[in-house]
Amino acid sequence: MLRHQNFINGKWVDGKEGWLDIEDPATGEIIGRQALGNGDDINAAVAAARQCASRGELAAMRPVERGRMVKAIGEYILEHKDEIAPILTLEAGKPLWEADIEVAGSARYFEYYGNQAETLEGRSIPLGDGYIDFTALEPYGVSAQIIPWNYPLEMAARSISTALTAGNACVVKSPELDPLTHDFLARAADAVGLPAGALNIVCGYGEVAGAALAAHKDVNQIVFTGSVETGASVATAAAKNIVPCVLELGGKSAAIVHDDADIERVLSSVRWGIFFHAGQVCSALSRLVVHESRHDEVVDAVAELARSINVAPGSELAEFGDNMGPMISQKQRDRAEALCIEAVQQGAKTVAGGHKLNRPGWFFEPTVFDDVTADMNIANKEVFGPVLSVQRFRNDDEAIQIANASEYGLVGGVFTKDSERAIKAAKQLRAGQIFVNEWYAGGVETPFGGYGKSGYGREKGREALYNYVQTKNIAIALKGE
Ligand code: NAD
Repeated sequence: MLRHQNFINGKWVDGKEGWLDIEDPATGEIIGRQALGNGDDINAAVAAARQCASRGELAAMRPVERGRMVKAIGEYILEHKDEIAPILTLEAGKPLWEADIEVAGSARYFEYYGNQAETLEGRSIPLGDGYIDFTALEPYGVSAQIIPWNYPLEMAARSISTALTAGNACVVKSPELDPLTHDFLARAADAVGLPAGALNIVCGYGEVAGAALAAHKDVNQIVFTGSVETGASVATAAAKNIVPCVLELGGKSAAIVHDDADIERVLSSVRWGIFFHAGQVCSALSRLVVHESRHDEVVDAVAELARSINVAPGSELAEFGDNMGPMISQKQRDRAEALCIEAVQQGAKTVAGGHKLNRPGWFFEPTVFDDVTADMNIANKEVFGPVLSVQRFRNDDEAIQIANASEYGLVGGVFTKDSERAIKAAKQLRAGQIFVNEWYAGGVETPFGGYGKSGYGREKGREALYNYVQTKNIAIALKGE
C-alpha cells in the first residue's frame, strides 16, 4: 500500500483532512493513501511560496544556474522512470508503455524550459538623447497550478518547469484521483537543491483545496487545466483578486478527411487520437469529418481498428501496441456510457463498441459512431473517453463548417495530399493548433492552447514562458549637458 504525504516548505506533511484512498481503475481496489489537504494546508503552502518569492533566491540567481536546476529536475525524473511509471499505471490506469511516455514527456518539459532560462530578455527602447529606457521580465512571485487527473505528472511538469524557469515559487494542487506520482516532483525539488518553498504540492478536493488556492489573495498568477465549468470558477476567483490566469480546458476536436487523404495516416491518427489513454485527452480526435466519397471505406477501417484494440489492465500492457487501459473512474466510465446510449437514441449508428466491459474495473469499449449529425449531443459534448463520431461532408466549405461547429477550439486536423487545400483549411479551422496529415504532430516546442471555450493563454513553446513573467519598464532621465 502506497502512502504519500503533501510537500510544504521543503517538508513532508500530513493533510488537515486526513487521508484519501486512491483506487486502481483496473480493479476498483484501493492501492494507496494520499494526505488530504484543505484550505489551511493551502494557506501554509502559499505562505511558504510567498516567503520563498520574497527572499528572492530564485529570481536573483543567474538564469543559467536556475535553468540548470530546472533541467536537473527532469534528469531526476528520468533516473526514476522505472519507479514512477508503474505507479502512474496503477493509479491512472494507463498502459505501462503509455506511462513511460508520460514520464519521459514530463522530463522533457524541464529540459526544454531549463534550456531557455537565459533567453528571457527585455529590450531597450529609444526615447531620445535625454533618456535610457529598458524593460525587464520579472517573475510574478507565487504561481498556483491546478492539475487534472488525465496526465497528472505531465500537466504538473508543464507548469512547474515554466514557472520555475521564470523564477516563480509554485503551489501545485494535485488531482484527487491520481496524485501519487507528484511525490517524485517534490523529491526532485529536494534533490536538486531548490530553496524551501519554491515548490509546494498539496492534494485536496477541488471544491475545497482547489477553490482555496484559486481565491487566495497571496497568489499572483494561476494556471488551470481542467474542465470548462471549473475553469470558469477559477477565472472568476482570479478576476476578483485581479490575478492573470491561463485556462487550458477541454475540446471536441475534428479531423477533416478529404477525398485524396492517405488512409494509413488517418488510421494511425485515429489510433493515437482517440484510443491513447482511452480517449481521456483534451486534444483527442473525437470527430472524424469524412468526404462522402471515402466515407464507407474510412468507417469500415476505423471500426475494424476499434474492434482490434485489446482492452486490459495497464499493468498487463508493457509493450506498445493496439491496446488500451480502463477509464479513470466509475463516474467517468458511466458518463461515457450514458452519452453513448443517448447518441443511439438521437439517431447515431454504432459501428463498434458503445458499452462498458462486463468485468471489474472501469473499462469501456473502443467505440465508433457513424451517421452523426451536428444537432446530436455526441457531436458537441466532450465524452473524454474512447468514443469517435463520424460525420460526412460533400464539399470543402461544408467540411470547415462542420469542424468549426463546436464551442470548443483546442485542436483541429486535415488529411489531404494537396498542400494548398491543407493550408487553406488550416487557416479556416478555428482552433489553437492544427495538425496536417498527423494528429499530435508537434511537441513541447509548439505552443498549445485553445480558441473559444477551450480556454486562453498558451502552455508549451516559447509563448508559455511569457505567462509567467510580467514586464517592467525602467526609464532613466540622464543629466542634461
Ligand atoms: P476538473 O475541472 O474536474 O478538475 C481539474 C482540477 O481542478 C482538479 O485538480 C480538481 O480538483 C480541481 N477543481 C475542481 N473543482 C475546483 C474548484 N471549484 N476550484 C478550483 N479547482 C477545482 O477536470 P478533470 O476532470 O480533472 O479533467 C478533465 C478535463 O480537463 C477535461 O475537460 C479535459 O479536456 C481538460 N484538460 C485540458 C487540458 C489542456 O491542456 N487543455 C489538458 C488536460 C485536461
